[in-house]
Amino acid sequence: MPTCESEVEVNIEKISKKCDAVLITHYHGDHVGEYMKVNKEVPIYIGKQAKDIFMVFQNKMKDTRVTEITQEYIDRLETFKTFKQGVPFEIGNMKITPIRTDHSAFDSYMYLIEAEGKRILHTGDFRLHGVISKGIPKALKRIGKVDILICEHTTLSRQDENFMTEFMLQEEAVKLIKNNKYVFIMCASTNIYRIASFYHANKKVGNKLFICDTYQKELLDYVSKSSTEYTDYYNFEDVKSFDGKYYKQMVAKGFCMLVRSNYFSRKFVYNPIKISI
Ligand SMILES: [Zn+2]
Repeated sequence: MPTCESEVEVNIEKISKKCDAVLITHYHGDHVGEYMKVNKEVPIYIGKQAKDIFMVFQNKMKDTRVTEITQEYIDRLETFKTFKQGVPFEIGNMKITPIRTDHSAFDSYMYLIEAEGKRILHTGDFRLHGVISKGIPKALKRIGKVDILICEHTTLSRQDENFMTEFMLQEEAVKLIKNNKYVFIMCASTNIYRIASFYHANKKVGNKLFICDTYQKELLDYVSKSSTEYTDYYNFEDVKSFDGKYYKQMVAKGFCMLVRSNYFSRKFVYNPIKISI
């Protein structure tokens, strides 16, 4: 899929007619946004958790009725095929090995594609400063030599910027949560790694109420349930969805609240007392 920065016009409808399959590395809009243009006969592959998270997101977008998302988008997404981390699958004579990678989208993958004695590695978007980044150099070593490397980047041109690692950010979050009674965290609903950073920072400083809206809670409950076989780091069992019964406790003892730039958040931040609960 082309990135939004791409200067080359790619006609997905036209080129997908000749495809055996489409591999999606992760659910960010510049990678999955044009899936409705892919020919209906062509199977689309994505990680299992990525598909389910994207499904909750797309359903939410459909319900808000402010986007183009309709039931047709949901139906096509239902047809996406999934795979297991690290378990190869075949498309025609090609062997595809999905390798889980570190990125701000949860359940992102690199693809090692092998056919006719040639090996291609498509890295997708990835970083080396996140929660699961430690495994990336090892994974690349295991992959060994490839004939072609397809790599994407958004920060290679920003050489003079200093980036915080997810762990540095978590330390900063500990200080912020400790020194402020009411903490609003503005964060994309699907950036599970970032939410986990704040969630664990909050646990370190006494576990204030960690609040979000019902949509975000649905996403976090899914991630908790589907991640148990791999790790307990994404167990968000203490997250509460915002409702009246916590209001007094929130005001008295403080809280951390996940917010996004939407009507609910704006109303709460600017006028918390009058909000209807
Ligand atoms: Zn991305």
